[in-house]
Amino acid sequence: MPSIRSTAKNASFLCHHLLIQTQTCRYSIATTLQSPLYLLPESPSLQQVKQAHALTVTAGLADDATMMGHLLAALALSPSSTSSSDYPLAVFRRIHNANIFATNNMIRCLAKGETPHDSVTLYVDMCRSSLLPKPNNYTFPFVLQACSKALAIVEGFQIHAHIVRLGFAHDVYVRNALIHFYSACHRTESSRYIFDENSQSRDVVTWNSILAAYARDGQMGLAEKLFAEMPEKDVISWSTMIMGHVQGGHLERGLECFREMRERKLRPNEAILVTILSASAQLGLLEHGRLVHSTIESLNFPMSVSLNTALIDMYAKCGCIERSKEIFEKMAHKDVWSWNVMICGLAAHGLGKEALALFRWFTSEGFRPVNITFVGVLNACSRAGFVDEGRHYFKSMIEDYGIEPEMEHYGCMVDLLGRAGFIAEALELIEKITIQPDPVLWGTLLGACKIHGLVELGETIGKKLIQLDPTHDGHYVLLASIYAKARKWEDVSRVRRMMVDRGANKVAGWSLIEAQGKVHRFIAGDKEHERSPEIYQMLEVITNRLSESGYLPDISPILHDIQEEEKENVIKEHSERLAIAFGMLVTEIGDCIRIVKNLRVCWDCHEVSKMISKVFEREIIVRDGSRFHHFREGYCSCHDFW
Ligand code: ZN
Ligand code: ZN
Repeated sequence: MPSIRSTAKNASFLCHHLLIQTQTCRYSIATTLQSPLYLLPESPSLQQVKQAHALTVTAGLADDATMMGHLLAALALSPSSTSSSDYPLAVFRRIHNANIFATNNMIRCLAKGETPHDSVTLYVDMCRSSLLPKPNNYTFPFVLQACSKALAIVEGFQIHAHIVRLGFAHDVYVRNALIHFYSACHRTESSRYIFDENSQSRDVVTWNSILAAYARDGQMGLAEKLFAEMPEKDVISWSTMIMGHVQGGHLERGLECFREMRERKLRPNEAILVTILSASAQLGLLEHGRLVHSTIESLNFPMSVSLNTALIDMYAKCGCIERSKEIFEKMAHKDVWSWNVMICGLAAHGLGKEALALFRWFTSEGFRPVNITFVGVLNACSRAGFVDEGRHYFKSMIEDYGIEPEMEHYGCMVDLLGRAGFIAEALELIEKITIQPDPVLWGTLLGACKIHGLVELGETIGKKLIQLDPTHDGHYVLLASIYAKARKWEDVSRVRRMMVDRGANKVAGWSLIEAQGKVHRFIAGDKEHERSPEIYQMLEVITNRLSESGYLPDISPILHDIQEEEKENVIKEHSERLAIAFGMLVTEIGDCIRIVKNLRVCWDCHEVSKMISKVFEREIIVRDGSRFHHFREGYCSCHDFW
């Protein structure tokens, strides 16, 4: 499944929060009642600033340095004036004898703009020119902000030297800005040095800045240690920890952190909610996702586009595509990401026709598809077997939208063509790729060779793959099963031996199930769970009931096309079987059992799940490494094609 939201977006949330925090602590638009600027809100629009400016001009205050300093401060805080520095510069240049307040706010505007280097240039002018005031402690946080944004490490070093020389090294705001600057330039050690340098001069922002530095650097262990020592934690501290864990792939720790935060009755911010929904989505934890949703509702949280989109994504990835559709339809404003998430969600659930219809609606609304949109579209075609449409959209993507195909797009196309039996066309496509094709593409094609019984081509591709990626045991298994299908038993055992000799590593298979507010993770043959004896008893019950109904396990290790799950373990102890048995124990009769598995479900477990859904009248939804399986009344939504 494609990952919808880039982590970069979340990372920018983090920086944004810290900056806001450092900025607004001081130097707000403090205006007197006589000033025409006093009506301005905290973050005014450009329009509002310009109106206030007009009023100051008519009041004859256009040259007043302090007044114009306030106007520049308002511009710096205005969310709509991020790019061009022309207007603030025009304001600044009109001031006779700019004072330190106006000059600092000019530096601040430039730091926020598209050319943060100009901010440093103005700082240099301050140091050199007698016409400008000398820098003070307020100057440095702004100019360091510019250095952080421009990743201007050399300039930042020099400014740090000035700070020490001019005696501002103990100012807590300056120190916070230094920590942030070094962290932005990936000098976490230097950030830590500043943090340790003066333990008397620290506030909550100092702590948050060092936490963010470690989080950005992926050193969550150190961040945790400091977090525990923090004298006072605010919502930014929590969000830094939560996002750090989730972005670092420690999803469960991120969720735990969120729980702790809620237990302290802290109100989360939007960034936290979006991150937590994304973690729930990645893990497929529906109960958790629902809990977050109800938290949002009970807090009367304003439903922004990002929050709604995160909910759509969560429900889609947790197997509730109907809920995703409801939210999508109710959304008054949708951005390109909302559409992408919905299209990809429909595709992942095998609803190819709906996904394509939505795509057409999307373009008719005037939206321009991006590369992820086409991952959804091509995925929809591939899952539904729409070969002609797939070819058409692939071509259209390149020719009409100028999008260079990426590995994921090729993956969908190779899958689509391979499954439909157009192996030669798929091969041609792979060979045309200018960059080194991902072994996954060859793997997909190898899978297609297996479906269509193409032994010779399969052999060629299999050998190539093993050469490319000798440690991936899935390739050996697939090649062996191609030989097995052709009854070439000697080749089968040769490939198996090769796999053992080369020590191909096995990715450990696991299955997750949520129950009573907890996540239970099983691996094959697991005996660690506290209710293990009952689980194994339940497995016995299942086995007996199924064999009464005529089920025979497919115990041939050769035909048994498990990708990675260890074959030495008896099939019936595969992780998803344990999870299903546990699910039967802890859910009510008739309840749906939802499992998330990291690898592809094996043939035998797939059969058993179908049988259970019939014999025990249970709906089972399994999200495996590549798709959803909805088992109901003895059938699976994938039509045994995955
Ligand atoms: Zn299995
Ligand atoms: Zn299935």
